[in-house]
Amino acid sequence: MTVRGWAWLTLIVLCGALAVAVALLVPWHRPPAPRADQLAALATLPTDRVEQARQLRGELRWITYPAMLVGLGVALLLGLTPLGSWLVGLVPGPWLAKVLGGGLLVLLAADLITLPFAAWRHTVAVRYGLSTQGWGGWAVDLLKGYAVGAVLGAVALLGFYGLTRLLPRWWWAVGAVGAAGLVVLLSFVFPVLVEPVFNKFTPMADGPLRTELMELARRDGVPVRDVLVADASRRTTSLNAYVSGIGPTRRIVVYDTLLREAPQAEIVAVAAHELGHAKRGDVVIGTVIGALGAAIFVVGLYLLGAWSWLLHRAGVQSIAEPRAIGLLLAVATVGGLLAGPAQAYVSRLLEARADEHALELTGDPAGFEQMQGRLSLVNLGDPDPPAWEQALFGSHPTTVERMAAARAYARDH
Ligand SMILES: [Zn+2]
Repeated sequence: MTVRGWAWLTLIVLCGALAVAVALLVPWHRPPAPRADQLAALATLPTDRVEQARQLRGELRWITYPAMLVGLGVALLLGLTPLGSWLVGLVPGPWLAKVLGGGLLVLLAADLITLPFAAWRHTVAVRYGLSTQGWGGWAVDLLKGYAVGAVLGAVALLGFYGLTRLLPRWWWAVGAVGAAGLVVLLSFVFPVLVEPVFNKFTPMADGPLRTELMELARRDGVPVRDVLVADASRRTTSLNAYVSGIGPTRRIVVYDTLLREAPQAEIVAVAAHELGHAKRGDVVIGTVIGALGAAIFVVGLYLLGAWSWLLHRAGVQSIAEPRAIGLLLAVATVGGLLAGPAQAYVSRLLEARADEHALELTGDPAGFEQMQGRLSLVNLGDPDPPAWEQALFGSHPTTVERMAAARAYARDH
């Protein structure tokens, strides 16, 4: 069999493995959330605040989607015209310099063109009282984000071009393993290395709340290393909590804004939802799916590299030369956009299961519903967004779906 034959076989096996993983790991049963309950829940929310949230989301649509289109346009322009290879060609020196310098240039070009949208989004968030940041803090966050992206991009590009030089025919096989390994590694190190770049985390102070949360985790049989409080208030008024990390790095993080705004019963409901993620290993599920996706991307890249039309458009001889970085960006951008709705769909199923877990663990559907309403109102999220938008981009069930699920649970128990 030829090398390309092996690559095709690997691609088919990996896609099969992904299908099996998704079929087995994703909770396909979704707890009921009848539309009648959704409408009844919506009617309990203050109409002026819902109206304001819809106004904000309407304004943001004029920023988010054009920014997405412009980002895609720039990636296609850099990847499917000789512009990207020309840009990388500007960097003098050996391949290492071309990879790092050229990669930075291409990423910077893509970031700079969408920068006005990011600034516009910030002014809207400030006007609606969602952001507490001035331009200084906003710019620092932006630069930190670029820095994290540059480091990750440099690691990926150096790995990619190092391998293609070392193993011109078989780089895709080792690269697929390496990309999957990188995803797993990031799941471990992201919470300890990257999250502290943006926020300060302090262990939750001793007191009745901490005692109740640790007791909740003990009752749930979930070993939790710590409950941490993030100083989110220096950037936002939004309320949130999340669980991140695997094994020894697993922790529950609660925004300080949540502690300030929400009564104890609602914070317990939020923590119970996060414990649901931890108990069912949702971070591991996401990591497995992400690792398989990354491996498929690398093998797919190798096979795409045989498509002479594509190489011709990009003005390069091979996808494995530094001047093809723009083409890599284009393929990654298109791949990310295509995978987005599927990722969102899986995420919604995992979130619905964590909600169900919270209801079972606390036995307090009223507190859960209160909490969902508060989160939506304070964060100015549309509690009942358009179906198309939810289907394409919704990472969680809608607020009214989550409130309705609590009502259905209360009826059944
Ligand atoms: Zn969640």
